[in-house]
Amino acid sequence: MEKTLFIVKPDGVRRGLVGQVLQRIEQRGFQLERLEYRSAVSSELIDQHYEQLLDKAFYPAIRAFMTSGPLVVGVISGPKVIECWRTMMGATLPEEALPGTIRADFAHAASPGGTIENIVHGSDSAASAAREIKLWFGE
Ligand code: UDP
Ligand code: MG
Repeated sequence: MEKTLFIVKPDGVRRGLVGQVLQRIEQRGFQLERLEYRSAVSSELIDQHYEQLLDKAFYPAIRAFMTSGPLVVGVISGPKVIECWRTMMGATLPEEALPGTIRADFAHAASPGGTIENIVHGSDSAASAAREIKLWFGE
């Protein structure tokens, strides 16, 4: 069965949204394969996770955001789960996300030029999912 990696980012944990994110996963019928609360995530891990963003001028702020507090990381499985979870998350910018998506329903609009605090992460392809699951869970 197809698998993807998801993260409830530090803003989602701080705002008490872990339960509501997990509820949406369960309501959609996806299986939880792995689920971990990580109280201290290293900069090195975030750098590897976001390797395609490393050379961007704004990347240091993303690293600071992703290491700013505990996060919850997991693996879910189901038919077309990679694309479906991306749809459930909504667009990267909360102000562009469609109503009913996690980012539209819970995230605040990004401040101009600031880091986009958008509650959740999801792998964007089968190759990314395999890479990210191995990175976070070593399998
Ligand atoms: N991000 C940001 N500013 C940008 C681009 C990205 O703060 O200009 C952050 C944001 O939290 C985003 C993450 O970096 O979710 C990864 O960016 P990506 O383009 O992969 O978006 P996603 O796949 O999360 O929708
Ligand atoms: Mg991405």
